[in-house]
Amino acid sequence: MIYDIVIIGGGPAGLTAALYALRAEKTVLVIEKMGLGGQIALSEHVENFPGTPKMSGMEFASNLASQVETLGGEIEYETVLEIKDGNPKTVVTDFGEHQGKCVIIATGVTNRRLGIEGEDGLIGRGISFCAVCDGSFYKNKVVAVIGGGNTAVEDAIYLSNIAEKVYLVHRRLEFRAESRLVRELEGKENVELVLESVPKKFVDDGGFKGMEVVNVKTEESRFLELDGAFVAVGQIPQSDIFKGFISLDESGYIASGEDCRTNVEGVFVAGDCRNKTVRQLTTAVGDGSVAALAACDYLMNK
Ligand code: NAP
Repeated sequence: MIYDIVIIGGGPAGLTAALYALRAEKTVLVIEKMGLGGQIALSEHVENFPGTPKMSGMEFASNLASQVETLGGEIEYETVLEIKDGNPKTVVTDFGEHQGKCVIIATGVTNRRLGIEGEDGLIGRGISFCAVCDGSFYKNKVVAVIGGGNTAVEDAIYLSNIAEKVYLVHRRLEFRAESRLVRELEGKENVELVLESVPKKFVDDGGFKGMEVVNVKTEESRFLELDGAFVAVGQIPQSDIFKGFISLDESGYIASGEDCRTNVEGVFVAGDCRNKTVRQLTTAVGDGSVAALAACDYLMNK
């Protein structure tokens, strides 16, 4: 079958694109490699989506996925390896090939690693990138969160309700996170801020032992004895497979205008993997609708 639109990625951007395309009576295939909902499914709460009461990220994601499935959207759980241009376009996956008259890329971002000694070997054995997923393993234990953005501060608040003690290690004095979150964090008695400090290495002694941090001003080292560490130092776009096929910016985000069109005709981009200034749930779903309508326009004029 040749679909009108093949959407790569089943996060909020991809699912919103599917919703809009299905409502415009297009045939749609969504290809997702893990689980529907993307990063929002791993958020404890969604409380800043306009007009929507506070709910868990998982509930938000599953509501969106049901909307798509109810309208007849098809979903395949496969990993995309390549897009081949042509008429139609071919999306190659680890299971085979799918064809679409046009393609929307909504592959999102993945967690940035610190790139320090001990990190690779301890991932899943003490180092985690998701407090909501793994926090419950650290009941009454001692953990650290690294980073100073919304994710790190939210993670530290979340973990402070589970763990006995939480260190928040951040390389500056000021937080990038919203001040409302920082205020909430500062009210937590079992959170110790380790500021102007960067992790130097994780210590693996047959098991996770802790983390050495260095103060960037004084260059003094300190060893934090830990049961677990949560790395929340930002994200990188999942765009490697499109290198050479489509224009990326210097950080690897897919280049496009606000119309979500890329430099390849009939290929659109939506969500966090697109080059833009604000990466929020609201902007991801905004992109999804813009990309879907741009794709419908492309199909009509083709
Ligand atoms: P982010 O905003 O990019 O913050 C990354 C943090 O990690 C920054 O504090 C940065 O320090 C630090 N960092 C980066 N590289 C580092 C390194 N090598 N060593 C030590 N520290 C390092 O990432 P994020 O918190 O994951 O958020 C990503 C996006 O999602 C943002 O747009 C955010 O607003 C959004 N988000 C929103 C919500 C919400 O609305 N509730 C929740 C989560 C995320 P510097 O500050 O010094 O650069």
